[in-house]
Amino acid sequence: MAVSIELLKYPFSVEARSAVQRMANDVGSLITILKEPGNNDLVEEAEERVYAAITQSEIKVPEIDRDEALLVYQAARLIVEKVCLNLNRPGLRSIQAEAESKAVNKHLSSERDRVVRSLCTDSLGWQIESTGTTIERSRLPLSLRSFEYRIRFEDFLEVAPSFRSMRWKLINRHLDAGWVPIRKSELHRLMSGKFKKLIIQSEIRVPTLPRRLTEAVQRFESEMETRRKEREPTEYTDESVSAFPPCISQLHQDSINQKNVPHFGRFAMAAFFFKIGMGKDEMMKIFRAAPDFIQSLASYQIDHIKGKEYEPPKCKTMQDRGLCPVALRTAFDSLCIYILHPVQFYETRSWENSKGITDHSWYARKRTRRQNF
Ligand code: SF4
Repeated sequence: MAVSIELLKYPFSVEARSAVQRMANDVGSLITILKEPGNNDLVEEAEERVYAAITQSEIKVPEIDRDEALLVYQAARLIVEKVCLNLNRPGLRSIQAEAESKAVNKHLSSERDRVVRSLCTDSLGWQIESTGTTIERSRLPLSLRSFEYRIRFEDFLEVAPSFRSMRWKLINRHLDAGWVPIRKSELHRLMSGKFKKLIIQSEIRVPTLPRRLTEAVQRFESEMETRRKEREPTEYTDESVSAFPPCISQLHQDSINQKNVPHFGRFAMAAFFFKIGMGKDEMMKIFRAAPDFIQSLASYQIDHIKGKEYEPPKCKTMQDRGLCPVALRTAFDSLCIYILHPVQFYETRSWENSKGITDHSWYARKRTRRQNF
């Protein structure tokens, strides 16, 4: 019999968990099922699911037309747990959790109200209530009309503090006798956030895996290893410095000459350096020369910029902030006319350096003019 699509979309639902329990009540029996040659398709789909999670592509609902399709998510969790253990990279679980949570959020966005409410109450144990139809809500104060639900504040607080935006702080919410009004999309975010939390907290003790799963784990490990190598910091050499655009070059010089660099300048430099692959240690060496250098603060700021994967500011922003020496007419490089971003400058100049090209007249022939100074 084909399994219900809801169970496949929401692996945290009480129905999905009960169905899985009936088929495999522990990791050992799950592995026994996955070992059967007739279930190779489950492992294949699980591998695809893990790959989608790691590459941040869309996680699809399994297309296997039998109850065992529910074990695809379980098998994907097993693969990731084994890789976390083998590579000593527990962070992979968070990456998988983030991707799985995004998939759930997407499913919820087109889900029927009845299913959403049942997931909240029966599967997550939350108390939620509808705030009425659009007509009924039109009688509420204007500031409350767009909230389709209310949720108990203790359930709201289970997940909301893990979100960064200020709108998730309880202090910024309307609170009425312990109930927090919430929009439909916010409820979906809380639900998928709870699923993410459940995955992060669910460490699995994975025993030795059968051959087919071990092969999947090995393929995945080698993929992770390739990605790690690709991301390894590039060496910071005189050649890379010579490819810096005038703006970064100026900030870099000011830093090593112990001049005060404005906060935005430091941010622009750090984001640029990460983008071109410079490691944190190299960056700390540059920032260390600043007169107001505080090791712990600089380290925190660098980690923060890296963690959030901030994009380095484009030329327009640098100019608005008074950090473009070409616009200020204190420096000039003709390449700046043909780019819109300091990283584009760096990529082109690095390529020229690698080919020994010193004649820049080709810009005018091959490139479109992008900026006027
Ligand atoms: S034009 Fe862009 S790349 Fe060139 S110095 Fe100004 S901000 Fe930097």
